[in-house]
Amino acid sequence: EMAEQELIFLNTENLYSREDLNKFPKYRLEQIKSWLNKGIEEFDEMGNIPKELREYLKSRYFIGSCKIKDKKISQDGTVKYLFELYDGEVIESVVMKYNHGYSMCLSTQAGCKMGCIFCMTGQGGFARNLFSTEILSQIQVAQKDLKIKISNIVLMGMGEPLDNYKNVLEFIKLVNSKDNLNIGARHISISTCGLVDKIYELAKENLQITLSISLHAPNNLIRDKIMKINKRWRVEDLITACKYYTKITKRRISFEYIMIKDLNDTVEYAHELAKILRGMICHVNLIPMNNFECDNNNLKYDLKRSTICDIYRFKNILEKENINVTIRRTLGQDINGACGQLKYNNTKYNNFRK
Ligand code: SAH
Ligand code: SF4
Repeated sequence: EMAEQELIFLNTENLYSREDLNKFPKYRLEQIKSWLNKGIEEFDEMGNIPKELREYLKSRYFIGSCKIKDKKISQDGTVKYLFELYDGEVIESVVMKYNHGYSMCLSTQAGCKMGCIFCMTGQGGFARNLFSTEILSQIQVAQKDLKIKISNIVLMGMGEPLDNYKNVLEFIKLVNSKDNLNIGARHISISTCGLVDKIYELAKENLQITLSISLHAPNNLIRDKIMKINKRWRVEDLITACKYYTKITKRRISFEYIMIKDLNDTVEYAHELAKILRGMICHVNLIPMNNFECDNNNLKYDLKRSTICDIYRFKNILEKENINVTIRRTLGQDINGACGQLKYNNTKYNNFRK
């Protein structure tokens, strides 16, 4: 009688080093790899692989695609997924409908090391990087579930994309590819809290993706209070890196600025922001902060969203200073649109990594 064997996680990284699989011809492994790179969910989707081999793979291995653990649909049509990964880690993704199609906000890490104080994900700590195929799988599973085609991608879910640089770049190449999702670089945005060294690296790749910088403050005094990364890279370093990025790629940078009441939303700071951005090809996105209730004792700050009035005052000053600015429309308010929130509202995960 055969002892029950535990299934092994198969992905493009361990495929070629599995001894039992090396018995198969090289081209078979290549075929399997290209299926895995498509983010498929089942071995039976591997159309050009003979049935016996698929059965063998099933008997020894499993594929690490995202499993839907929870799903919330907002009145405005926004869909928020809670996905479980092969090892039990949980991430979030959001699908939003726009006039021109569907846009999806993806996670790049389970958790995040950066610890920004306004961010739910930042409060939960870091678990691990996602593989490129796990980032892709979020799209595949959502497309299948909603019977839609995603046309825009924003890497603005859980995690810091540039802290998972290699896998994120691999992911971008996969979605770009004609025989995969065929989504062009111009339809992809990366949002970063500002890993300056990685911004220089990314500039040299000269991709046509949009870079979003989570700036959130016009100076070091304020940024130090809310973002740990500012101890490592100062506002001046970040702005210099952004100027370099635009010079090399000719792409307009988008600056994200969360509006936090009485912290970064004053008249003085609007002028200061305009001053540091002057002359840059850029766009400022003012984001009304999502208040959140958090029972984490480590949360030292009580941050509240700026008033509508203060948000418009800030916007008007930037406009007068000739800075391109919009107030971000907040989709999915009724289902806790901001990433990190579905997960923390799911009571089972309330004790996640305290
Ligand atoms: N780590 C990357 C991308 C993920 S965070 C980054 O920081 O850019 C995605 C966006 O959500 C960032 O702009 C972040 O600042 C924003 N965000 C985090 N917490 C928020 C909150 N409470 N309200 C509104 N936006 C928030
Ligand atoms: Fe990480 Fe971005 Fe959240 Fe900061 S805002 S903790 S970088 S996910």
